[in-house]
Amino acid sequence: MTVVFSLEAPYRRAYELHRLTFGQGGPVVAIVAGLHGNELNSMHAVNLLASSLQVQPPRGTVHLFPLVNTFGGDEGVKRWPFDDRDLNRAFPGDPRGTSVERIAAALIEHTEADVCVDVHSGAPHVRELPQVRAPLSGRELDLARAMGLPLVWRRAGEQLDGTGLVGAWRRAGRAGLHVVGGRGITLDTEHSGTLARGLHRLLTHLGMSPAIGPAETVADVTRVEIETHRAPCGGFFVPEVRVGARVKPGHLLGYMQIPIGGDRIGELRAGRAGVVMTVRAWPMVHAEELLVRVAATP
Ligand SMILES: [Zn+2]
Repeated sequence: MTVVFSLEAPYRRAYELHRLTFGQGGPVVAIVAGLHGNELNSMHAVNLLASSLQVQPPRGTVHLFPLVNTFGGDEGVKRWPFDDRDLNRAFPGDPRGTSVERIAAALIEHTEADVCVDVHSGAPHVRELPQVRAPLSGRELDLARAMGLPLVWRRAGEQLDGTGLVGAWRRAGRAGLHVVGGRGITLDTEHSGTLARGLHRLLTHLGMSPAIGPAETVADVTRVEIETHRAPCGGFFVPEVRVGARVKPGHLLGYMQIPIGGDRIGELRAGRAGVVMTVRAWPMVHAEELLVRVAATP
């Protein structure tokens, strides 16, 4: 493990940006996790990959950054604790700027690679099927599909925002992929394992690691192929499905009840056949908040 950047901290030991490097020469891949301090599945996935690369070093070089926001990790929060800034809105950063801007600049400098991956968990209040979000076409979409994750989500605006890490990579001429799985604040070993297999398949696709099991992709969609269910009113949402469940039209996805007393006030049913890609995990909801998403399956 190498410390590639450090920052003096006002009241505890210095912040250190840790990098694990496996192999040597090209091609070069950089994988980042824990930009958000409470996204445990991303960290665990990268550590699982580290264990397998230790046994079987890659052809080429793999740089892993399992936890960027260590101080947020200490405190169980997504953002950088001192000034409550989102590290993933601080790119491309500034070596003479605030703490998050300096960390962002260091991360861009030390992820010089042909292919870069930023791994996240979902927000704490939703659980997401392990997925890769990619542009509508081009090399990044090919790389995204090679991961064989359960869901490929092609999005028109993906990676254009240069204040995010993936956008900053893209502007620097590197291929950048945005991977998400599970929910924040929670370690889900099944989702972490799925994410790790996706990362491994990417290395296989690049000729860097031997093949593992077959692709696990069940849906490859754009926005119009995703059915989004929002809360019809405020209440307590009880899901009846888990992410990854296959549903048919009319399948009960969950219901709304009154928080006090539990009277049922509404039901959610699937309108199309597909796979459940998002499920609300924090049941207290306001009207119009996200409850369930179903991605169309072929
Ligand atoms: Zn995140």
